[in-house]
Amino acid sequence: MSRFWSPIVERLVPYTPGEQPRDQIFVKLNTNENPYGPSPSALDAIRAATDDGLRLYPDPEASDLRSAIGAELLLGSDNIFIGNGSDDVLAHAFNAFFTGKAPVLFADVTYSFYKTYCQLYGIEHRTVPLNDAFEYNIQDYAAPCGGVVIANPNAPTGIAMSLDSLEQILRQNSDVVVLVDEAYVDFGAESAITLVPRYNNLLVVQTFSKSRSLAGMRVGFAAGQQHLIEALRRIKDSFNSYPISRLSLAGALAAWNDRDWFETTRDKVIADRERVAEALKIQSFRVLPSATNFVFVSHSHMPARDLLAGLRSRGILVRHFNQPRINDWLRISIGSSQECDKLLGTVDEILSKSR
Ligand SMILES: *Cc1c(COP(=O)(O)O)cnc(C)c1O
Repeated sequence: MSRFWSPIVERLVPYTPGEQPRDQIFVKLNTNENPYGPSPSALDAIRAATDDGLRLYPDPEASDLRSAIGAELLLGSDNIFIGNGSDDVLAHAFNAFFTGKAPVLFADVTYSFYKTYCQLYGIEHRTVPLNDAFEYNIQDYAAPCGGVVIANPNAPTGIAMSLDSLEQILRQNSDVVVLVDEAYVDFGAESAITLVPRYNNLLVVQTFSKSRSLAGMRVGFAAGQQHLIEALRRIKDSFNSYPISRLSLAGALAAWNDRDWFETTRDKVIADRERVAEALKIQSFRVLPSATNFVFVSHSHMPARDLLAGLRSRGILVRHFNQPRINDWLRISIGSSQECDKLLGTVDEILSKSR
């Protein structure tokens, strides 16, 4: 605390990102990064953009990237907004659609950044409990509110919601924006982007960080009807007109266009996820059905904190959330096949030592 701080800064409880160790001695299964790396053509495009052109500002509209994304999704480029990572897009969306409104609804167990944005922008919120299986109760969202935020698949549970359920929420809440965070959608859920032409209150947010392995590049986007995209642009241009660097624009465009790399690496992650889930179930873990690049697990008798510490001391980082309802659970990212083997072997070792 300092007497120079504004009242807002004093009140903030910032989001705590997963640990990013400076040395590479750990197997990092704690922040859902993709083990396979970006498309080689993305890396080529970034290298090619590393020249004297960097003295110039980037395209403030990200026109080429918006056109490429729009074309693939059967939308126009004016249905797409690009941000500096999807966290940036989400922050702008909270600011654009939820400030000065009734409380926003989101699940009690979900991406904890939503709460942080509410605090930053002075937005009221109400959390809606997931059921005992950590699934959404759709009826609970049929309430007057200032907006709805749904992570689909949800994080950190990994559970996907059907588009039918999502449509029910869109219809029940037709007077407010329903923000759908699809950070993990490519790993097994159905995207709501196909619903954009039919729902004027739907904004879908995706990222290049997970399924396109560009977390270090910081590129995300929103898809929605023009009036929503226009609102995001008004916020962006009142904040930072050039949020996406030239290198990011070049890399993201090439990554988006490399469908083969995207599908091959995604399929490997999905196959290893299923393998890890089955192996952990055999080890007496409860494993929630995951449509993401991580599994959310709880052991029948070893506390999550002990496992967390045991894994860490053996060089493996996973994520633990010190929150009600999930403090006996661990979120484990799906790494390379070799890293998954190491995880399974280490879990086995920890459990057999405790017996
Ligand atoms: C990773 C993640 C994001 C943010 O991704 P960016 O790297 O900022 O694009 C957003 N929402 C959820 C649920 C995530 O897990």
